[in-house]
Amino acid sequence: MKSMMQHILNPEIPLQDRLFQLLSTIALTEYIIVTIYSMISGSSVTQILIMFVGMILFTGTIAFRFRSGYRRTGSVISGLLYFLIYPMTFFSSGGMYGGAPPVFAFALVYVFLVTEKWERVATLAVCIVGSGFCYRFAMLHPEILIRKEIAAEHTESFLSILLVTLLLCMLFTFVTEVYKTENHIVQQQKKEIEDLNQAQKRFFSSMSHEIRTPVNAIIGLNEMTLRENIPEEVRENARNIEVASKILLHTINEILDMSKLETGGMEILNNDYHTTSMLSDIVNMIWVRAQDKGLEFVIQVDPTLPSGLHGDEVRIKQILLNVLTNAVKYTREGSVRLAISGKTNENGTYSVLYDVTDTGIGIRQENIPYLFSAFQRIEERNIHTIEGTGLGLSIVKQLLDMMGGTVKVTSEYGKGSTFHIEIPQKVADASPVGQVNLRKTQSTATPRYQSSFVAPERKILAVDDTPMNLMVVKKLLRETQIMVDTAPGGVEALRKTSATHYDLILMDHQMPEMDGIECLHRIRTQENSLCKDSKIVCLTANVGSDMEKLYRQEGFDGYLVKPIRGKTLEDEIARLLQL
Ligand code: ADP
Repeated sequence: MKSMMQHILNPEIPLQDRLFQLLSTIALTEYIIVTIYSMISGSSVTQILIMFVGMILFTGTIAFRFRSGYRRTGSVISGLLYFLIYPMTFFSSGGMYGGAPPVFAFALVYVFLVTEKWERVATLAVCIVGSGFCYRFAMLHPEILIRKEIAAEHTESFLSILLVTLLLCMLFTFVTEVYKTENHIVQQQKKEIEDLNQAQKRFFSSMSHEIRTPVNAIIGLNEMTLRENIPEEVRENARNIEVASKILLHTINEILDMSKLETGGMEILNNDYHTTSMLSDIVNMIWVRAQDKGLEFVIQVDPTLPSGLHGDEVRIKQILLNVLTNAVKYTREGSVRLAISGKTNENGTYSVLYDVTDTGIGIRQENIPYLFSAFQRIEERNIHTIEGTGLGLSIVKQLLDMMGGTVKVTSEYGKGSTFHIEIPQKVADASPVGQVNLRKTQSTATPRYQSSFVAPERKILAVDDTPMNLMVVKKLLRETQIMVDTAPGGVEALRKTSATHYDLILMDHQMPEMDGIECLHRIRTQENSLCKDSKIVCLTANVGSDMEKLYRQEGFDGYLVKPIRGKTLEDEIARLLQL
């Protein structure tokens, strides 16, 4: 009994098989009870014999099903029930005056549950016709029915109803039990998946943090080398280090984004932004890359485009940069063109259309559907020298989906491709942008570095538990002549801020003992603090719009991401100290 219950409640066994076992056991139990009742209620030998034959046939078929695992046994039993056992029982127990009618209802439920699809329809139809025939035949030839005393027939009918009802109740209890058990399993699995997602998210964000910290030192110190008057060969080496570090960073960012998209941690943050400033940021980044490869970079902006839009500027830039970078990457000669226009949709909403066209290697028609799958690189053999992870376009597609945008690709293999991107956005300022000239006049030779301000009278405190990061900040700010003091942790920072007034504090987040957020609050509130009103900027390797939101909410005046560039650091200090 115990092992049968385990079998019936085992979710790994198909529900159909379990139902078969349960229903067959119930039906057989009912049969045994009715046979025993017939024996003790003084039924005729013929009646008892009929019951015995039926019981043996029924048991045999069920046993055969369990031995052979033959699924169609359900229909076989149903046929047996309706063409042999049921008619025999019906005619031998008083027809509709005895205990047979409720069994008919139970038998129909049985047939319905143990058969499937077309087999179910066919078996049910045959069974209904079969039992209908019994009723009709009994009506036309009542003399064929073996009748009992009226009191015995009533008792049998009552007991039959009671038995069938009890059996149906057992069936529903089972179904409810199965639902509860399986629901519990689903909930458990859901929780496991969520835990796994969280663990994956934590892993990727800590991996990103751990990689950014040394890359911060590489990029920062390399920038210092590039600022020096150095031989051309050394400069070229330093430039290559810069390019390699950027690729490494880009890859980390892509992996982090992918993990966020997969775990549902990516958010779309819509804000008003200036169309031209967004476009000029993009052009500035792509221009140099195109120029380095000897490609022409053309940009066409529809003069009627609104000057202010409302959307997620950061993610739109990410999408366009990805597609434009690909256009440059996969084009050996010719040009890359970015055309931007807008349109009002039928439902009154506004969409911006971005067309990125290149004269590159092109994509075969049959490969276009695979472009947006993660980790897919097309023509792997031809492009193995071009760096890439195969994640970029998958991220583009997922971000567009989140924004309600679309991307379509038209391409001629060997001649070039066009990516048509459409992003619905609200119009924040309808005045037209007019003729915009985004062409950046950048010379290939990097100009000699010059600090954007000099402020020897200002004092900065940099707080970080990694000595290399402190050294990078100090070196990057050397030419601004600003006084940079350092603290290797929160405790030292609190001591220093109660002894000296600093105009600005650059604070790392993740530090042992006291983290940057706690340190910020204590600097603001400790009694003898001389820096209660100083500007405090979070300089961290924890990236993401959600992190930025958190830091702003905690009270940081600014947010900078490692690896930090000298120019970005100077700009933020100049902004906050109004230099
Ligand atoms: P990757 O990091 O490899 O560039 P993407 O997801 O950005 O990954 O692109 C997927 C693949 O699509 C690329 O590996 C490349 O084969 C193909 N592809 C993308 N853009 C272009 C393009 N402009 N021209 C030709 N092939 C392209």
